[in-house]
Amino acid sequence: MKTLREYFLQAKTEKWAVGHFNFSTADQLKAIVEAAKELNSPVMVATSEGEAKFIGREQAVALVKSYQQEGHVVFLNADHHKTEERAKQAIDAGYDTVLIDASKMSFEENIMTTKIVVDYAKEKGGLMVEGELGYLKGESQMQGTVEISPADFTKPEEAKEFVERTGVDRLAIVFGNIHGIVTQQEEKLTMPVLQAVVFAIPNVFFVLHGASGLPDEQIKEAIANGITNVHINTELRVAYHDALEAELQKEPDQTTPYKFLAPSFEAMKELVKKKLELFGSVGKI
Ligand SMILES: [Zn+2]
Repeated sequence: MKTLREYFLQAKTEKWAVGHFNFSTADQLKAIVEAAKELNSPVMVATSEGEAKFIGREQAVALVKSYQQEGHVVFLNADHHKTEERAKQAIDAGYDTVLIDASKMSFEENIMTTKIVVDYAKEKGGLMVEGELGYLKGESQMQGTVEISPADFTKPEEAKEFVERTGVDRLAIVFGNIHGIVTQQEEKLTMPVLQAVVFAIPNVFFVLHGASGLPDEQIKEAIANGITNVHINTELRVAYHDALEAELQKEPDQTTPYKFLAPSFEAMKELVKKKLELFGSVGKI
């Protein structure tokens, strides 16, 4: 099996993106893995700190390892781990890669914290580490509006310094993206900001967070301009939730989880397939 780094190098050369999908239950993970398998696509799955707490950090690792042992091309990311301690715990537990998100700290503190995790990952076998720079607003849920300002966008000079001083492999950047789905405002990416950052730093992979709710055309344009990793969470949560709600209304007496969860599983699987097609990773294994 190729390494995650090799898939990223391939994605960068061929201008497609690795899909990154969050889960907090075993059936959600299975839906993502099956979707990727059916399309011959590599895939990243992830748990945030909250999601890891729900399913169990060691359990998430064990489940993903079981799929890897069956030959599935799936990599587990520790998404938005906010402190060096928790990022290190994820590395120790066996995650394939981590996102140390110290973006709410000052620039210097973010660099220091991120660098500690990068050094630790090197000691532990050289797994890929992602850092985040810029203030990415919003939560992974439905929201009316989220105020964003160009002052929150990633600045090319700062991003270059950040990558050089920390040695991160992937960088999450902010150029109009918002976490979650906004219902009363148009989420719009600012491509010139992305282009300037990509131009400034050739040796890093760029990550688009908060892609839920973004029009397909904008995601395609972002990938054409150098994004090689796209994160989707809220859209999956909504699909899972809405299918479950509909099923419980349709079959109020059904109490067998594998029966009332089947439509949620299918809804999530179909959505992941649509996204993998959009990201251009189909057939890349
Ligand atoms: Zn994110």
